[in-house]
Amino acid sequence: MSLLERTRSLQRSRLDGDHGVSAESLIDRLIDVLNDHSALYHQEISPIISDFEYDQLFGWLKYLENEDSRPARQDSPSHRVGAPPIDGFEKVQHSVALLSLGNAFNAQELRAWYDRALKRLEFSLDTKVDLVAELKIDGLALSLTYENGILVQAATRGDGQTGENITVNAKTIRSIPLSLKGGGRGPIESLEVRGEVYFPKRSFEELNEKLVAEGLKVFANPRNAAAGSLRLLDSSVTASRELAFFAYGTGPVSEPIGGTHSEELQSLKKWGFQINQESQKWNGIEGVMDFCTSFVDKRDDLNYEIDGVVVKFDSLELQKRLGAVTNAPRWAVAYKFPARESTTTLLDIVINVGRTGMITPEAVLDSVEIGGVLVSQATLHNEDYIQNRDIRIGDTVLVKRAGDVIPAVVASIDSLRTGHEKVWTMPPRCPSCDTLLERMEGEVDHFCTSSTCPAQFIRLVEHFASRDAMDIEGFGSKLAVQLVESGNVAALDGIYQLTAEKLLRLDGFASKKAIKLVESILASKNRKFARLLFGMGIRHVGKTIAELLANSLGSFEIISAKSEEELSEIDGIGPVIAKSVSNWFKNEENDKLVASLTALGLTVSEVVDNKSEEHSQQYFAGMTFVITGTLPTLGRKEAEEIIKRDGGKISTSISAKTTYLLMGEKPGSKAAKAAKLGVTVLSESELLEKTRV
Ligand code: NAD
Repeated sequence: MSLLERTRSLQRSRLDGDHGVSAESLIDRLIDVLNDHSALYHQEISPIISDFEYDQLFGWLKYLENEDSRPARQDSPSHRVGAPPIDGFEKVQHSVALLSLGNAFNAQELRAWYDRALKRLEFSLDTKVDLVAELKIDGLALSLTYENGILVQAATRGDGQTGENITVNAKTIRSIPLSLKGGGRGPIESLEVRGEVYFPKRSFEELNEKLVAEGLKVFANPRNAAAGSLRLLDSSVTASRELAFFAYGTGPVSEPIGGTHSEELQSLKKWGFQINQESQKWNGIEGVMDFCTSFVDKRDDLNYEIDGVVVKFDSLELQKRLGAVTNAPRWAVAYKFPARESTTTLLDIVINVGRTGMITPEAVLDSVEIGGVLVSQATLHNEDYIQNRDIRIGDTVLVKRAGDVIPAVVASIDSLRTGHEKVWTMPPRCPSCDTLLERMEGEVDHFCTSSTCPAQFIRLVEHFASRDAMDIEGFGSKLAVQLVESGNVAALDGIYQLTAEKLLRLDGFASKKAIKLVESILASKNRKFARLLFGMGIRHVGKTIAELLANSLGSFEIISAKSEEELSEIDGIGPVIAKSVSNWFKNEENDKLVASLTALGLTVSEVVDNKSEEHSQQYFAGMTFVITGTLPTLGRKEAEEIIKRDGGKISTSISAKTTYLLMGEKPGSKAAKAAKLGVTVLSESELLEKTRV
């Protein structure tokens, strides 16, 4: 049986509960399978399952080992760190082992870790000990040795005891100091710095683009890219990749460089190391969980991948007293974020026709759970994306589901191919109206350009009724299909001609539901003009552009009277948008639709914001704002709109790059952080004052 088959069989056994075999045999099978995955992940950097799937089986193994009366097998991953170093590099013996970290997946497990440590220290369970919470950077552990201030060796973790000597490659990383700041023979005789080599997200994307252009295989994620780039035998290739390094601790030192972990990090910072700025000190475990969960959302704002938060005892004295188990320290734990990736089989590729006619290939997947949600479809973006990544029907693929973003297939695992996989190409015609698909020069997307394509129209109706557009309650995609296919809605104005009687003739409608829907439709007539404009589905007119057009021109009538050139004179409207808007209004059918919506009493104009002229100065251009606390009069959304209208950007986390912290009452931890980083704090009235410049 292949490794994947053995894995899937264990995954099924774990879920079914009824294993039909002894715990002993299960443990043996799990150890063998996990060790094989570990070698693929750590040595070959080509994992065939996601970390989440690995962690699930690993958690199960630990549970079974705990229940088992026999001593655990010495080669069990619960007793080991990583995998032995690969050939090709000189081996380095670590004088003090580099360990892995124990995991916590929820608040209870985090608390249990803290309580276990307190018990071991013989402290009462209500003792509040200083802790440090740091982001868990998703890269590769590295140990750097400095003698008299000079970098003499860089080694990977390997199996914890023996790593690979990658000094030449590490020297190409700009954030790794070749000599410590402090002059002379250096500030300290000998020092081992430990930290994580990572790939900044932007550089990772650029690297993948470059690999695509060279016809090479892309990396599935920044971690693999970091691991792959650091362990290259040709250091000039490593040098061409923009790797970076965060220091997060020390190994052996010739003399103490601080009494606490945070003091040690400050010394490292002084000597030229990059230290992660998001860390926070806590007294006691309360509050740490909120810090951990706050980064589940904020992780997308960071320029590097993180897969959790590492919580550490700050006192080095307590760290020493707590010591370690075989493969992990007791004084630290990794709170792991909910999974965002999983592997599954790509059953088919179908194409989806969007409201603007854009064609998106969509993956039909063997359903897989990712972060508590069952995923059976994922985007494949466009034909080039599929070809560049050589994704084939039948492949085992890695699927990512992050935040609100639609799940996407990020890579295929070609090492698992059987030879039966099928290469996919874009079909020539629209699956809905049979029109020949077009691909403009220089664009990656295919389009169905038919103006009567039913699939496009269904998507448009759905979009029109959606929350950000006309916000018609109870009007979802299923209803859009039903209304269009039954002929009840043939153009957008048809939505406002629906009656309860008409709806009652459709499947699934009883009188209460029909009346409610008609009421919701009527209520939507009062939505602001900008929403209506957005709802019309004009290509390139997203929410922001619709607001800009509504704010600066004020009505369908005025917008339609403007030429392409006049439209592009509006700050924020480029030639592509101007052309698209102007073309839309030139179309007779659209003209009729606007007249009909006007006659039906929808809001087709709004008072022009005269300040928009002044705002064209984009007072906040290039500035980044973070908002905290309750503002006296403005809602969060309103404040954000004001900032964005003047060209500012909103971020959820404070960093040295933040221009202003807009602060209201009861600010969170961001206020202290802003003070620490010297970020200017603005009140609501100061913000409003600035926008009136
Ligand atoms: P880990 O990645 O869970 O945690 C330990 C590592 O965290 C340290 O070695 C260090 O490099 C890193 N780290 C990042 N930021 C840190 C900070 N601020 N402080 C301290 N350490 C920090 O453990 P691991 O032993 O490196 O790897 C095990 C994990 O690797 C598994 O949990 C699994 O998710 C993954 N894995 C996946 C597969 C697979 O097939 N997909 C196979 C083996 C392992």
